[in-house]
Amino acid sequence: MKVKRYKKVNKNLRFFINNFGFRQPFQVLIDGTICYCALNNKINIADNIPRYLQGEIKLLTTQCAIVEMESLGSKLNGALLVLKQYAVHKCGHEGKPISGSKCFLSMLGKSNPNHYIVGTQDRDLQDKVRGIIGVPLLYLHMKTPVLEKPSDISIKASVSRLSAVGASEAKALEELKVKNGLLLSNEKPKRKKKKGPNPLSCKKKMKKPGSNSTISKKEGQPEVEKKKRKRVKISQHIREALLQNKNY
Ligand SMILES: [Zn+2]
Repeated sequence: MKVKRYKKVNKNLRFFINNFGFRQPFQVLIDGTICYCALNNKINIADNIPRYLQGEIKLLTTQCAIVEMESLGSKLNGALLVLKQYAVHKCGHEGKPISGSKCFLSMLGKSNPNHYIVGTQDRDLQDKVRGIIGVPLLYLHMKTPVLEKPSDISIKASVSRLSAVGASEAKALEELKVKNGLLLSNEKPKRKKKKGPNPLSCKKKMKKPGSNSTISKKEGQPEVEKKKRKRVKISQHIREALLQNKNY
């Protein structure tokens, strides 16, 4: 696999790991359409997908998906055999099977709490999956597996989740400060305001002649005189003021 592709799948998968708690082994819900596509392109899902996702995975299907494939006739027998190799996950429709796509959607719910990755070539199901928060979508592009980038709704959910976490962390920190007496309970943390202009952009203040700091301890000479080599430009009006001061 090319490095660029490796980075891309890694990035997409990491999004779901970091934001939605996906963990290995990743559970991939497989339907008949992706089996059919894999068979046509002569690739083995069980080999290719773990290699592509670079992790341990569980390939799952449901009774509903199998029943649907069976009902579509002998033309799909090969794909059906492939599908039947995978573990059959309980979907709650046992005895009363529904269509494969409806079954998968019911397993995803509103926010995919069981962290399924959906593997399908069914365009309609793909669109619906994109509308559910936190569902990675996997499909084949010819012989190549593709883990689609997170859908907009998943990205939005992750952002609002992050900001909520940030707010709750800030609140917890404040409570901790109150508990430790660092902050009064009704006191809000204040931002330190820097007063005055930026000291880096200002000229150094002239030291007042005669103040203690300017007198060297040994000789009692003003420090300004000691550092003769350093030429300090003193403007005319300041020089006059200094001379006036001396005269007092
Ligand atoms: Zn089902």
